[in-house]
Amino acid sequence: MSCLLYPQPLAITALGHSGSTDGEISAEVIAFPNLASLQAADEKLVAGKIVRINQPMFRDREGAGYADVVPNRYAAGSVAKEKGAVAALIRSAGTDSHRFPHAGASTREDNPLPAAALSAPDAEQLQRILDRGETLTVALDIKVSEQPGGESYNVIAQMDGRVDAKKVVLIAAHLDSWDLGTGAIDDGAGVAITVAAAQLIGELSQRPKHSVRVVLFANEEQGIWGAKAYAEQHKDELKNHLFASESDFGAGPVWRFDTANEALMNKAMPHLAALNIEKGGEASSAGPDITPLVEAGVPIFQLQQDGTDYFDYHHTADDTLDKIDAEELKQNIAAWAVVVFLAAEDLGSE
Ligand SMILES: [Zn+2]
Repeated sequence: MSCLLYPQPLAITALGHSGSTDGEISAEVIAFPNLASLQAADEKLVAGKIVRINQPMFRDREGAGYADVVPNRYAAGSVAKEKGAVAALIRSAGTDSHRFPHAGASTREDNPLPAAALSAPDAEQLQRILDRGETLTVALDIKVSEQPGGESYNVIAQMDGRVDAKKVVLIAAHLDSWDLGTGAIDDGAGVAITVAAAQLIGELSQRPKHSVRVVLFANEEQGIWGAKAYAEQHKDELKNHLFASESDFGAGPVWRFDTANEALMNKAMPHLAALNIEKGGEASSAGPDITPLVEAGVPIFQLQQDGTDYFDYHHTADDTLDKIDAEELKQNIAAWAVVVFLAAEDLGSE
């Protein structure tokens, strides 16, 4: 009854691998502060309802808040389904206060539950109603489809090294993006940064000793499918991958350089310091598409960007070219050109 007091449309987007509602469904909402509380919930309370998780994401220069909330996106639908719910709604994994829901993948499974992300203002409005102790009913109409047999391709370019072309420094970005925006920051920026850095190295009077390979991965967003295919197809060659790194965090300025390779660190830092980049430590990650290569033992470096604003736009309709600052993009390109050149020139045989 009380739902009639607050009738309003909600800004939502279906998650990747969501199911459809097959027409409009309407059900009472049961709210949880996080995934663990949903997992611990009594099935009797959840069955027949729309599950809702309202966990805000904190803002952080390195995007550290994402790791806390992204499990909600992956698992809310499947956990809710196990407990007999009819749909799942999560607060978007984002740091903005705009009425844009953030898309993103959920876990792929057979007969998935309808699962969607709410914009932050809508998530907060629902919470205000629930905090008054009122019964909340939401109507959903989610229609999704999967294109069977779709094929996409990694795009690979290599500049052969002048001494030993078999040894490669792999730099990467990904070509796909979510449907709502244009993919300018995720990951058009990474494509521009890595391709432009390779082009600068190619304009030098002589090639580095070892090869520079640019890989623009297909289908990162649904689960790094292109990266997994690359690691499988090139597995015999991975021992000759001197380093790998991906640019996949927008176009914010690089502020720290991380690598466990001391020779590369020492050679790069005088140049990077001139670009306002600090010396870091061992790289903890080098981008999602590099994960299969890390598992195969390929060394990495990371040019850590300032991502304070990244999750305001990530996977939303607001991921557009105007969010990219040309000077910051150039600083990224300069940093990548320095590190990739040094990695391919001086360090391959060490
Ligand atoms: Zn990305």
